[in-house]
Amino acid sequence: MAASLRLFGAASGLRYWSWRLRPAAGSLAAVCSRSVASKTPVGFIGLGNMGNPMAKNLMKHGYPLIIYDVFPDACKEFQDAGEQVVSSPADVAEKADRIITMLPTSINAVEAYSGANGILKKVKKGSLLIDSSTIDPAVSKELAKEVEKMGAVFMDAPVSGGVGAARSGNLTFMVGGVEDEFAAAQELLGCMGSNVVYCGAVGTGQAAKICNNMLLAISMIGTAEAMNLGIRLGLDPKLLAKILNMSSGRCWSSDAYNPVPGVMDGVPSANNYQGGFGTTLMAKDLGLAQDSATSTKSPILLGSLAHQIYRMMCAKGYSKKDFSSVFQFLREEETF
Ligand code: NAD
Repeated sequence: MAASLRLFGAASGLRYWSWRLRPAAGSLAAVCSRSVASKTPVGFIGLGNMGNPMAKNLMKHGYPLIIYDVFPDACKEFQDAGEQVVSSPADVAEKADRIITMLPTSINAVEAYSGANGILKKVKKGSLLIDSSTIDPAVSKELAKEVEKMGAVFMDAPVSGGVGAARSGNLTFMVGGVEDEFAAAQELLGCMGSNVVYCGAVGTGQAAKICNNMLLAISMIGTAEAMNLGIRLGLDPKLLAKILNMSSGRCWSSDAYNPVPGVMDGVPSANNYQGGFGTTLMAKDLGLAQDSATSTKSPILLGSLAHQIYRMMCAKGYSKKDFSSVFQFLREEETF
């Protein structure tokens, strides 16, 4: 597919357009003449724990926002700051030709895109739609097909890094989609993250994210088990963490996000497991890993066990706590 990028000077500053020639049948649909002028409004849908600080970083970089969230209170501070709040994803699509979605689950993403008042109802040809939610890669591929039928472009760009990285603009984005559009996505994602990595076709961003979170869940449970065992063997938790972190057991869960209260400051375990990455979301991501493992016939023995552990935690009152609360869960489950 032939495509070129042209740079134009404009009274209000630099503006550039991505001109897409009509592709051959079967490839990405339609002529794309999306305006990607640097500071034209960007749509943002889903202003929760992650979406809120991500959208604020776009504001800091000078992008006016068109905002929507099903929970109106989530939009209030953006409205107070002078951003435009609208009443449906379709209305966002009417006013912005670059849109970022940051929603909890596949179901929410499908609703925001294909629902009665979804983005697809009013999306403009050539729009760039970036979904940063962590959802099923198969759903990302389906959404991409629907978006393509409307002459627009879809990319999956889930994130790693959590609320702290979202606030500081240091997220890692794992991006799947048409490579020609990566630069356009990077312009926005670079305002919210320090690493923006192109992974391949649509769905590969989600694939990378799901693999990372499965490994994270396994290593967090392992760290919690090792710390709990050591404490019961009479070791001081800070000393044990220090030894692990200078030994072969070291991992991110032990040295940057230790699950034992009192070992580290500034992590959820130091704050009764409030904030951070919820157990429900981790259980959801492990469910996505389980589905992907089934469809690709991949053995994920520890991933499956981690899924069951996090589901059990949700059923036992840990759903709103950070996922490192698996340490507390093990402490309380004497007979586990
Ligand atoms: P959240 O629940 O805090 O926020 C989601 C927001 O989306 C809420 O404000 C909700 O009202 C809104 N919403 C839900 N359905 C909607 C719809 N149909 N239309 C418009 N708005 C809708 O979730 P979060 O923690 O911000 O996570 C968002 C995504 O990022 C999830 O997929 C999660 O797995 C992923 N993620 C989260 C973290 C983390 O640390 N929280 C880290 C990495 C990735």
